[in-house]
Amino acid sequence: MTDDAADIDRKRIERVYERIDPKEFDAILFFDMNNIRYLTGFTGSDGVLLLQPDRVMLLVDGRYVTQAAEQSPHCDVVQYRDKVSGIATALAERGAGRVGFEAFALTVGLYEKIRERIRTTRLAPLDGELSCLRSRKDAGEASLLRRAVDIATEALTDVLPLLRPGRTEREIALELDYRMRALGSEENSFPTIVASGPNAALPHARPGDRKLAPDDPVIIDFGAVYRGYHSDETCTLVVGRPDAEFRQVYDIVKEAHDRAIAAVRTGVSGREIDGIARRHIEEQGYGPQFSHGTGHGVGLDVHEDPRLSPLSDQVLAADMVVTVEPGIYLPGRWGVRIEDMVLVGEDGCEVLTRMPKELKNIDL
Ligand code: ZN
Ligand code: ZN
Repeated sequence: MTDDAADIDRKRIERVYERIDPKEFDAILFFDMNNIRYLTGFTGSDGVLLLQPDRVMLLVDGRYVTQAAEQSPHCDVVQYRDKVSGIATALAERGAGRVGFEAFALTVGLYEKIRERIRTTRLAPLDGELSCLRSRKDAGEASLLRRAVDIATEALTDVLPLLRPGRTEREIALELDYRMRALGSEENSFPTIVASGPNAALPHARPGDRKLAPDDPVIIDFGAVYRGYHSDETCTLVVGRPDAEFRQVYDIVKEAHDRAIAAVRTGVSGREIDGIARRHIEEQGYGPQFSHGTGHGVGLDVHEDPRLSPLSDQVLAADMVVTVEPGIYLPGRWGVRIEDMVLVGEDGCEVLTRMPKELKNIDL
């Protein structure tokens, strides 16, 4: 491990204690594997992190002892046979009587077993305290996100010539997945969406056997993963010639997207950004057809805090990465969604995703 890596890890742990008073808790238990990865570097699929201001203990089963020791040299790696016993032993050893835990990442079943086992320990759920823990990206994370975007951009550019009448959604999605993997993506950010014609009116359509027809609108929502970091971008294009109404709706969504991005900066809330996009769409008469939030944070999870929605009190801060993705969906006909990822700055933002968002029609 380089000094740099040690430095970054310590800063991340300090972020936990900016949110949680170490005087209130003897220890904090983490169960969310992406939070554990963020705080320790460990990329395994199972484990528990017991965090104290002066000690970081990573509890893993036998499969992961060697990997955890290699990936997390600043942690005390402890092997357990049974997770609940492992947690109980570690808490007893550390004399931890007041313990916070990630409420959103623990099943009720496991919670009950832990509580049963350590009756003298006071377990306190943490939820809002840990929201936005990973939202501000350091320079290393930003460069991994940029690399994920590079892979996705190159893959879609390669696949665009396949968008011809007669091709099925599934063929196009498979080619895009294949290209992303061939270019270095570990997996897809989420199941790739290629939705044509009336399927494009479903915000979360699954690619199927529908063949592209002349003049079809097509929504492509896709992302690559590079060293755990996700990209997320949506392009809506037309295979042939868009009609006047489609052009009009596209312009409305594009304007909502542009206005929201122009407003992104430090200090603005997720609700305000959502409101800017939503107001424009409502003013044009399509309010009920914009049926989802305007965006979300993206990083080790493809959907993470902060949220950009009518319900979000979360406030944007420098170095957060969020999507902006307004849409309008006309059931039975078609839909439009335009999505970019942006890096929040003090006075504005930088758009990270790179596919052009002007209305693109593919000549037949
Ligand atoms: Zn998306
Ligand atoms: Zn998204």
